[in-house]
Amino acid sequence: MRRPSKHQYYMNLAREASTRATCDRAHVGCVLVRFSKRGDSIVATGYNGAPSGHPHCDEVGHDMENGHCVRAVHAERNAIYQCARIGVSADGAVAYCTVMPCVKCTEALHSAGVRLVYFEQLYKSMSDDDVSRIRLYVKAGMDFCYLVDGEVVDATPRVWISLNRIRPRTEVEESSLFLLNL
Ligand SMILES: [Zn+2]
Ligand SMILES: [Zn+2]
Repeated sequence: MRRPSKHQYYMNLAREASTRATCDRAHVGCVLVRFSKRGDSIVATGYNGAPSGHPHCDEVGHDMENGHCVRAVHAERNAIYQCARIGVSADGAVAYCTVMPCVKCTEALHSAGVRLVYFEQLYKSMSDDDVSRIRLYVKAGMDFCYLVDGEVVDATPRVWISLNRIRPRTEVEESSLFLLNL
């Protein structure tokens, strides 16, 4: 079996975390990783589900509001909350998320010091307002990187620069990623 790359490895772990999700509208997983010269370490993991002590959507149905289930705490925020709970810093960690974070999770990650997010699926229901808000986070130093099977297919400009790569022209035209317009 081929040895997975680091991107594949951490995304596999995020996918594994997502299998614990208890809101079946979406199974999302997030892994916060700290890369360091002394070795990488996993800071925290999260998946979407009801707050602890609450009934799960799987048991009592969803709590819908404007087309979203508002009971489940999103995977990314659960990972940040886990940091707070166990007393570890997420500052400087990167996030591997199975799905691109929503605005609120972007806010949580950014405020906790996570400035780079890898994801492998686009967030389906992002409004123009959401896109504008995410853009503000990108302006404030947040970066996003869209991976397919561990390969970068799209990213915010700083990521391309850090990879010493020019954004591939074909991807720009084919992709509907809002990231391209940032
Ligand atoms: Zn739900
Ligand atoms: Zn979210």
